[in-house]
Amino acid sequence: MSANLAALGIDVGSTTVKIVAVDSDGVILWHYIEPAAPRVDRQVNDFLEMVSRKFGNVSDIPLVATGYGRKLVPMASKQTTEITCHARGVYKQLRHSGTLVDIGGQDSKVIIISSSGQVEDFTMNDKCAAGTGRFLENTAGRLHVDVDKMGTVALSVQEEAHISSTCTVFAESEIISKIANGVAVEAILKGLHRSLIFRIVAMIRSLGLIPPLILSGGVVKNPAIRYMLSEETGESVILPELPQLMGAYGAALIALG
Ligand code: ADP
Repeated sequence: MSANLAALGIDVGSTTVKIVAVDSDGVILWHYIEPAAPRVDRQVNDFLEMVSRKFGNVSDIPLVATGYGRKLVPMASKQTTEITCHARGVYKQLRHSGTLVDIGGQDSKVIIISSSGQVEDFTMNDKCAAGTGRFLENTAGRLHVDVDKMGTVALSVQEEAHISSTCTVFAESEIISKIANGVAVEAILKGLHRSLIFRIVAMIRSLGLIPPLILSGGVVKNPAIRYMLSEETGESVILPELPQLMGAYGAALIALG
């Protein structure tokens, strides 16, 4: 077994499953991410086999599970909420208090992190797709733009279409009607990002903004999301190097003890 591997964290999200391996100082040794499979138990076993091939037998390595499907990881020594894990992960990397915004595939969270790295307060939206990555994913196909290119395309234009629908399903109808009326795809994309950001900013305001805004989750890899969050709040944004892995990383740090 590698002398360096000290703990594992696994984040079973609604959209993706992530695993992070750390050494005893909490340095990331290895990570892996995959779209969530229908059989999470099998997927988690495959992940652990991958770790074994890389590091040797991992049966004695502490493992903490987090995320929406954390209860489906029975071999974990502990299951911890994403709120705690994201806060732990970003605080270890950035060493900063602030308002953490985590935007995932099917939920979004706003978490106040204290100067000592504790969770002071949080709010979560897992009821409505409109403030999550799903909102953009649903429309990417319709507009023939890859999800990971949407932000760059949206930022490439000045004009912006106003999207008034507050629901993902109705927004799709609105887009179809705008396309039929000759509105540019880029302007529609910009308006869609704005609509998502308005929902996130409302969540931030409901909790209070302690600068800077700290970002995590897969959706913050989108440059338009980062730009508009800063634009709408007037605050600078900071993010860790691997924002989508912060839940799994925080879980690994908790497993370290
Ligand atoms: P969860 O933990 O809820 O499963 P993640 O934090 O893994 O979610 O984020 C998944 C979301 O991130 C998806 O909606 C996906 O479209 C989005 N995403 C992932 N990579 C990118 C990227 N490079 N650019 C824009 N969006 C991305």
